[in-house]
Amino acid sequence: MIPITKIQHSKISSLDFNNIPFGKVFSDHMFYAEYENGAWHNMEIRPLENLSVHPSNLAWHYGQSIFEGMKATKHQDGSPMLMRPEMHIKRMNASAARMCMPDFPEDVFLEAVEKLVTLEVDWIPPAKGSALYLRPLMFAADEFIGVRPSDKYIYIIMALPVGPYYAKPLKLKAEDVYIRAADGGTGEAKTAGNYAGSLFPWKLAQEQGFDQIMWLDGKNKKNVQEAGTMNIFFVIDGKVITPATTGSILKGITRDSAIQLLRKEGYTVEEREISIDEVTAASKDGSLHEIFGTGTAAVVISVSDFNYKGQNYSLDVDTYKVAPFIKECVDGLRDGSKPDSFNWIKKLDATLATI
Ligand SMILES: *Cc1c(COP(=O)(O)O)cnc(C)c1O
Repeated sequence: MIPITKIQHSKISSLDFNNIPFGKVFSDHMFYAEYENGAWHNMEIRPLENLSVHPSNLAWHYGQSIFEGMKATKHQDGSPMLMRPEMHIKRMNASAARMCMPDFPEDVFLEAVEKLVTLEVDWIPPAKGSALYLRPLMFAADEFIGVRPSDKYIYIIMALPVGPYYAKPLKLKAEDVYIRAADGGTGEAKTAGNYAGSLFPWKLAQEQGFDQIMWLDGKNKKNVQEAGTMNIFFVIDGKVITPATTGSILKGITRDSAIQLLRKEGYTVEEREISIDEVTAASKDGSLHEIFGTGTAAVVISVSDFNYKGQNYSLDVDTYKVAPFIKECVDGLRDGSKPDSFNWIKKLDATLATI
């Protein structure tokens, strides 16, 4: 049982629910736990506050840091709910294993998330498409200079109200100099360094007028991998194609949900290698109908243009059918307005946090 220490004065009255800046507003509480001597201790939900960390903190120097991103929403009947929460702790533990960090117990994670969300239920924005974004984070906490796995870790779950994500269609640059990940590397882990390494090529792409990068494989820079920090899908000749997750692609949960929803709807979905040459050829012969990215934050973002080796290829996002279908399905599951035929929705008992 996770103890709760409640904040004295909630900050919620300072929040304008119609104008929530993404990533900057935090709810009142966080879940906190410490790992030492091979076990997790001091697990609690307590007021969100600054941490005191020694300058030699191993995570800062050598990068043992992993995270997750998930959403709590409100069912139309008013109860808070989560979608596929167990997938997030399973993936976090896979990230932990790759980064030589300890497992976090699945049952404690689920209890922590459910208690935190029910405690912060008033922070879930009411507007359709908005959510309470949950950010689980684990990082090394040893005070030590030298490369080795940490003995101590800190585990946190924080919560941020976020408004609906109105993303304009993206212009992607197929990146043929820099890479995000390579086979055998850390691309499958949601670990801090992957994002740090992507910032410079992203900045260059932005200076050239693009929104995001279309990542190509680390060996031959031929096979498409991801779009920015989203998984990528193509619709060619009526078939939906997404790169197979064979080691250097993040195994997106939205990607998995999209594949299952599309197959149930009767679409052919292929998980396989797809080269940038296949995509440019399909664009030239008119069989390329859609490109879009998937991820928890936005669900789906359409791609209107991509550029490879200086040549631009455009798509007509107004004719997209597959991308809006996925968005509608996921948004409908997240507010309980669509039937939950895969049993992905976990409605929470709002009294949980008072026990
Ligand atoms: C988190 C993430 C995704 C999307 O995963 P979801 O589970 O759908 O949110 C895709 N690519 C990268 C690199 C990511 O970090």
